[in-house]
Amino acid sequence: MSKSEPVEASNFIKNIIDDDVAAGKNDGQVVTRFPPEPNGYLHIGHVKSICLNFGTATRYNGRCNLRFDDTNPAKESEEFANSIKDDVSWLGFEWSELRHASDYFDELYDYACELIRKGKAYVDSSSAEEMRELRGTLTEPGIESPFRDRSVEENLDLFERMKAGEFDDGAHVLRAKIDMASGNINLRDPTLYRIRKIHHVRTGDKWSIYPMYDYTHCVSDAIENITHSLCTLEFEDHRPLYDWVLDQLETKSHPQQIEFARLSLEYTMLSKRRIIQLVEDKHVHGWDDPRMPTIIGMRRRGYTPAALREFCERIGITKNDAWIEMMVLEGCIRDQLNKEAPRRMAVLDPIKVVITDLPVDHEQLFNLANHPQDESAGKREVPFTREVYIDRDDFAEVPPPKYQRLVPGGEVRLRSSYVIKCEEVIKDADGNVTELRCTHDAATLGNKPEGRKVKGVIHWVSATHGVAAQVRLYTPLFNMVDPAKAESLAQSIDTESETVLTHCVVEPALKDSTAEQHFQFERIGYFVADRHDHTAEHPVFNRVVTLRDTWAK
Ligand code: ATP
Ligand code: MG
Repeated sequence: MSKSEPVEASNFIKNIIDDDVAAGKNDGQVVTRFPPEPNGYLHIGHVKSICLNFGTATRYNGRCNLRFDDTNPAKESEEFANSIKDDVSWLGFEWSELRHASDYFDELYDYACELIRKGKAYVDSSSAEEMRELRGTLTEPGIESPFRDRSVEENLDLFERMKAGEFDDGAHVLRAKIDMASGNINLRDPTLYRIRKIHHVRTGDKWSIYPMYDYTHCVSDAIENITHSLCTLEFEDHRPLYDWVLDQLETKSHPQQIEFARLSLEYTMLSKRRIIQLVEDKHVHGWDDPRMPTIIGMRRRGYTPAALREFCERIGITKNDAWIEMMVLEGCIRDQLNKEAPRRMAVLDPIKVVITDLPVDHEQLFNLANHPQDESAGKREVPFTREVYIDRDDFAEVPPPKYQRLVPGGEVRLRSSYVIKCEEVIKDADGNVTELRCTHDAATLGNKPEGRKVKGVIHWVSATHGVAAQVRLYTPLFNMVDPAKAESLAQSIDTESETVLTHCVVEPALKDSTAEQHFQFERIGYFVADRHDHTAEHPVFNRVVTLRDTWAK
């Protein structure tokens, strides 16, 4: 059912389902669903729910539906729905069936009429404000609406006319008749339907009324014969309502709702509504800005489906809310890329080195391994010439203590090449270093230098054959652990979280790279060829993650 490996870690949900299967409940079947509202792009929090729902179905040889909870037409769109399908597929999952809550609008309406006929629902003509006042508080019971005892006939008539579009938005709602004194506010006659005279992408102008989430969700689950309806903890208090609706309607299946802790990730914001704000207020370049917590943003940043699934595996499924540290997420992609990404040399801030004791047309090809631990990754040719570039921070005129890179009069090894010695530093009129004139020790190719130790090894790129590239470095978009606590969105944003370097030089092998290919730039970090902007003529790389964990500091 799924292209990916099943989620194998043990968790409390697995234990519940194991018992259900062993007891023969639902004929031993396991059916789950992932039920997003198409009102935004999915984020890393949704990945947790996707991995759990699809992973559970895979493990039990069951099924998992993708169901759009499209009951709020004002905020929903095809663009969002399409992006959700793309994201789920990209993560490596296949849904059994694609469903929409709107597929069930007729059935939901009929079931609502059944509730009315059973005396379990009524049309309330109070204003929203009146209803709020009568709802009570956590410590005080609510008060019954003056419309609560309308007759079944009157309720059926009004509800039908609500559907027919006779009334304006807000004139009436349909409410469940449960218990205004319940300690659980969700059971104080919750709204089941409201009037919304608004066009729906899929049902057009057929409906003037739309069902509420709590009512729609349990009925949709029952219609699809979902066995285990997995949702986040904030719905725990809604479970009695979920069960109440299905009990009244005596649906042929009664799915079991089980709640788990939602993902909270440090330095990230996981709410579609607030993520939209980031885009609308132009704090980022778009939905797929590589700093975004959206799935498409993370994809563009260079995260892989395997790393995101591994992340969900590592954090597990629990009943307790907990903050997850960013280093856990970064560790997953770093571990994968360390194993798999080919090694390349790239110079982000070049200074030219001229090796004066080599002939002007000196050309040498080094055949270097793509991966130090994996011979099967093969080799690539790296040209070496009289002029090469090194990174500006691999040279210091006045070196700090323990500096092992190039200094005036000092030696360093060019990685996989010769030991060179800095003989002369050339500067421009402003005192900026523009060129280093060096000599090389011809006996040091593949050999240790005679009679002295050279500790430093730095990366380099041939100035003659190197390829110009743009490299983008990213740090967290948010400057605080919990950005939701900021007074304003702007206050929580690190405006320096993106650095675009336009004068980088990379080794020629990178010219053949294709979008979304990953590399380790030696000594610098893991990079991905940008999904949208990278071309052979204009290579563009995004830093996925640094070589080592930077959070420990
Ligand atoms: P948001 O507030 O970001 O819009 P949501 O819960 O309203 O999130 P839905 O489209 O309703 O978004 O989410 C679909 C599923 O994903 C739900 O079952 C929801 O519980 C789950 N989900 C959403 N956010 C998280 C999260 N941070 N961690 C785990 N699961 C989540
Ligand atoms: Mg929602």
